[in-house]
Amino acid sequence: MTTKPVTFRGRIREAFDEGVPIAIDRGARGHYNKRVEASAAFQEMEEMRDRARLIRAETLSKLDQYLAQFADSVESRGGSVFFAADAAEANDYVVSLAEAEKVNRIVKVKSMVTEELRLNAALEAAGMDVVETDLGEFIIQLAGETPSHIIAPVLHKNRQAVGETFAEHLGVEYTDEPTELNDIARGYLRERFLTAEMGISGANFAVAEDGAIALVTNEGNGRISTSTPRIHIAMVGMERLVRDREDLAVMFEVLARSATGQKLSVYSNIVSGPRRPGEPDGPDQFHVVIVDNGRSATLGSSVAEILLCIRCGACLNACPVYRHVGGHAYGSVYPGPIGKVVTPSLFGLEQWHELPAASPLCGACEEVCPVRIQIPKLLVELRNQTTDHMPWGLRQGVVWYARISTRPSLFRFVTRMGGWVGRVLGRDGWLRRIPFVLKGWTESRELPAPAPETFNDWWRKRGA
Ligand code: SF4
Repeated sequence: MTTKPVTFRGRIREAFDEGVPIAIDRGARGHYNKRVEASAAFQEMEEMRDRARLIRAETLSKLDQYLAQFADSVESRGGSVFFAADAAEANDYVVSLAEAEKVNRIVKVKSMVTEELRLNAALEAAGMDVVETDLGEFIIQLAGETPSHIIAPVLHKNRQAVGETFAEHLGVEYTDEPTELNDIARGYLRERFLTAEMGISGANFAVAEDGAIALVTNEGNGRISTSTPRIHIAMVGMERLVRDREDLAVMFEVLARSATGQKLSVYSNIVSGPRRPGEPDGPDQFHVVIVDNGRSATLGSSVAEILLCIRCGACLNACPVYRHVGGHAYGSVYPGPIGKVVTPSLFGLEQWHELPAASPLCGACEEVCPVRIQIPKLLVELRNQTTDHMPWGLRQGVVWYARISTRPSLFRFVTRMGGWVGRVLGRDGWLRRIPFVLKGWTESRELPAPAPETFNDWWRKRGA
């Protein structure tokens, strides 16, 4: 789950050293602008967002019922369902199945839940050959990295870096021409599609009514990976249920527009079980692994609303912090505003207490979220649970601020002192360096100097 260095601050420094934020900022702004255009062009967008939220909330309110219905539907169509309590159970199931079926070659469709489980590592440890088939995931797999965005995993790399990765790992001549890079990846992957014995996908949604899996991609790799190999395993986060196909259509409407600014993703696949007699293609076996891994605990918590998330990535593109530091700085497979809530909820606030604090609470994430998750409210809720982890200096600062601000004469005295400090130490209205416990503030930016006259004094004079 983690990348080194282990502190949030350390990871930010590393990202800056590598020049990552420039590429991230450009890419995220591009996605953000496309979403704005697509939403403006779709009159019903706001109404669809309301419907999408209601659909997700209704499904979560009866999740046990819908999960049972989904499992029955899959089994009635000849598939099998396994409920995995955690990553170890999910990975063991997939590895054991692959071993029992003598699988060696596996193709994978991009899936955040498999990143969360570290499924590739488990399969490789068992001696299997796993290849990511989404172009972005393929590039980062070759480079030995982790995704930096939940929709665009390779957002942190420019085409020159991709060319270098291909030259180094695929033994091809260096090129940074996008069409040539595409051709190289396509040539390599085509052979893998045709020889793989197993295809593993995630699921954007799972339909309770008929046991279908909905998968959206823009490259067509999802369709080939789930229909060419003889075994298909879909790894599904247990919250990704929708009631029926009518609800699914609403989710498709908001997902594509929010994620990439498209009316609809290029390939919207609905996979419903193994190949039936007379069908020309499809797998012989269809397995679904429903993954809990902390989700049922989150469902019963004060931040359960985060399970409405449909992983569109819009909040990452809108977030000023994400755009400045990039996805790897979060140290988790789930970066950005969504990651600041999902990561501590699924993997423990004790280890991930820094993340909820990494937000100015500006609300940009909530404004774009297709299911209107109140992310700032959830962040405040998590912050309230992490006061024990506050650095000593900050905690003292909060205690003293509370004492001073509730005593008017003391407050007036201290703010006048602030004006004096601004006059003595300020240069052109800015403090360039502050010492002691506050020095972190001016490490990477300047602080506006306190005004020479306090608001209270100004107000009093004005009244006079
Ligand atoms: S929190 Fe909302 S905006 Fe962010 S990824 Fe989830 S659904 Fe998309």
